[in-house]
Amino acid sequence: MMRRLPVAPRPYRDELLSSWLGRLACRYGFDAASLAGALTDDDGDAPGVLIDDIAPARKDIAVWVQVCGVDPERLSRLTLARRCPERTRDWLLSQGSPWASTPVRSPPICRACFEADRAAGGDEHLRADWMLAERCVCPMHRQLLLDCCPVCRARLHICFRLRESRARIVCGWCGQELAGTGEGDSALIDALISLQNFVGAIVRGAPERRRRLEEALARLWSPLDDPGAARPVLALWIDESRWRCPIAAQHAIGAPFPLGRLPVAWRVVTLIALDALFGIGRDGLRGPSSAAEDLLRRAALPRGRDGGRRRVSVPPPPRPFVEYLRLAREILLDPEWTTSVGASRRRREQILSRLITRKLAASPPPGAARVSPPMKREASPPLKRENPTPGLKFSGLSAQ
Ligand SMILES: [Zn+2]
Ligand SMILES: [Zn+2]
Repeated sequence: MMRRLPVAPRPYRDELLSSWLGRLACRYGFDAASLAGALTDDDGDAPGVLIDDIAPARKDIAVWVQVCGVDPERLSRLTLARRCPERTRDWLLSQGSPWASTPVRSPPICRACFEADRAAGGDEHLRADWMLAERCVCPMHRQLLLDCCPVCRARLHICFRLRESRARIVCGWCGQELAGTGEGDSALIDALISLQNFVGAIVRGAPERRRRLEEALARLWSPLDDPGAARPVLALWIDESRWRCPIAAQHAIGAPFPLGRLPVAWRVVTLIALDALFGIGRDGLRGPSSAAEDLLRRAALPRGRDGGRRRVSVPPPPRPFVEYLRLAREILLDPEWTTSVGASRRRREQILSRLITRKLAASPPPGAARVSPPMKREASPPLKRENPTPGLKFSGLSAQ
């Protein structure tokens, strides 16, 4: 039987499960994934494990309850499956990167929430609501959520650090403490709070309304004209001739559920476009407008690299963590990587990306080849673009 830990913080009501584990772990010099791995292994030396914030295994919760002396019901209430039973995983962000037990990829954050935690004399913690796919703004502090470090500008990966007996959240890359304040455009913030509330209401509501919303979002991020296009239909609404879809948003093109895959800035653009083209309210989408219909006719059915129609892949079962470690070691020992020392950061990132793709392809997990039937979408004839109605043109928001 495992011994109870001498110090274990209680979870906050609005806290993400992995955040509570992160606060717990930092008190013992661990990160959340390593602590969770150690607790589930008899010898206590297992590698880190990814923490499922949505529906963790009951046996894992039982272990955490046992070693921390926390009320099991209180812990279960932290899971996103309990908080948002009406949501599928597509409407929640998936957290965690198999390549790093520390730091863990973070949901977008509100720095002012951390500042408020400090002012209250408690630990800083991640809010469960930041995992909602449509969430762009903290309604409490009226600030855009942040998904890049304000100092090193890297994609946000957070770590917990114990400082003066309190857990503090820092950037996992540069160590910068992330608590702070900021200012936003109040008119834009008001609009976004309304839009994210409307989307949340639709997601919680009737399935048919949710299906129409999902269809509209998928069509906005469908490839433009050509199934292999690197620009989405949304580019027509943005209406800037030299606009290119940024790398951070390209993986959303052709995705059936693009919203949760987008950086915050592109979620903002997508919600505003959705409202402009379809009209969105608590009861669902009102549109599409005639301008939206013109744009959506340019949506092409996604295509795979082989020139055939892209199929919607069924996510493969997760690999054992030790397998990821093995692949990571192979990559780090690969001559292509070891001889890249001295190359530019961009060049090394390209090499790393290529090696990761190659190693994963060479070692597919069981069941990875399974695919679902092709998406059923109406083929759209090419149509010469007409200008959308006045007022629909995108302008003014600096999206990254
Ligand atoms: Zn906040
Ligand atoms: Zn940083």
